Amino acid sequence: MPEGPTVRRYCSLALPFVGQLVTKVGGSTKQISLQDLMEQQLQDCQVHGKNLYLAFGCSSCSIKKPEKTDDVNTQDDGKTEEGCSLITESSAASKEQSKPGTSEEMLVRKWLRFHFGLYGSIRANELARARRGNKRGDWKDPTPRLIVYFDGGGFLVFYNCRMSWCSCPFVDPSRDILCPEFDKKKALRALSQPRPVCITLMDQSIFSGVGNIIKNEILYLARVHPLSLGSILPQEDLTALIDHAITFTANWLNDKMKRKALRYHIYLKEQCENGHQVVKETIGPLHGLKRLTWYCPTCQKLPPCCGSLRLSRGDL
Ligand SMILES: [Zn+2]
Repeated sequence: MPEGPTVRRYCSLALPFVGQLVTKVGGSTKQISLQDLMEQQLQDCQVHGKNLYLAFGCSSCSIKKPEKTDDVNTQDDGKTEEGCSLITESSAASKEQSKPGTSEEMLVRKWLRFHFGLYGSIRANELARARRGNKRGDWKDPTPRLIVYFDGGGFLVFYNCRMSWCSCPFVDPSRDILCPEFDKKKALRALSQPRPVCITLMDQSIFSGVGNIIKNEILYLARVHPLSLGSILPQEDLTALIDHAITFTANWLNDKMKRKALRYHIYLKEQCENGHQVVKETIGPLHGLKRLTWYCPTCQKLPPCCGSLRLSRGDL
C-alpha cells in the first residue's frame, strides 16, 4: 500500500503540471465523469496522510504557476530533491495567492481526492507495462483508471486508485507524520491507551501517513512487540516509537525522491538483523482490516501481562 512518503513522490510527479490545461481525458474509471476534467486547469497538488489531492478550476480564475516548477522534471534528472521542497512551496504559493479572492475561488475550484489502496500508483509521461504474463500466458498491460493529457504535451496516468471530488482537502498537519507540525503529545496520549500499539499506529486519525511497512519497521527499531498494550509500556518506549516513526518516514521520503530503494529491517524478512527467526502473523482489530505483521520475538519481547492476548490476537 502506498504510504505517506510514496504519495509525496506521486505529488512531485504531478507538480510540474500545475498551471497546465487538460486537453484530453481517458481511463476506465466510473467514479467521476471524465468530461468534468476537460479544459480544466490543474491549479495545485497537496498530500495529506496517504491521500493525494489535485485542485482543478477554470483558467480565468487561475493561480500563477510557481516559477521554479519549470525547472523540475518528473523523471530521473537528479532534481527530485528540489521537487520535494516545491510541494510545500507550491501549496504555500497557491494559498498566498488565493487569499484575496478566496470565496470566489472556492466556488470554481474543486479538489480531486485520490486514495491508492493496496496497489495504486501514478506515472508521468509513460504507461505501465506488464511485468509478467497472466494465467493464460498473455502479457496484458495494466489498464489506466484515469489518464489526463495536458496542453504542455505531457500526461499523468493513475492506476488502481479510488477517486472522488471534494470541496477542499482535509488539512490537519498535526496528525500527518510527515508534517513538522505533527503533534507528538497527542500521539503519545493515543499510544498510551490500553490497546496493542500495532493497532494504534495504523489509526489514521492519529498517525496519518503511517502504513503497514512503517508500522512493522518502527516496532522493530524501537524493540517493541506489536501486541504490547500501550498502557503497560514505559513512556520512553512510546516516545522512542514516535521518534522512530518520524525519522523513518522522513528518511523513506528522502530515499523515494532520490529513487533509492528502501532497505527493510524486518518487513518481509525471515531473519532479523541479529539472526533470529522472524514471526509473521495476521493481526488487526475485531471489525477492522487485519494486516500481516512481522516481528522478532527475541528482540521484541512481549511484556508478561500482555501474554493473554496471544490467545485472541486474530480478533483484537
Ligand atoms: Zn531478533
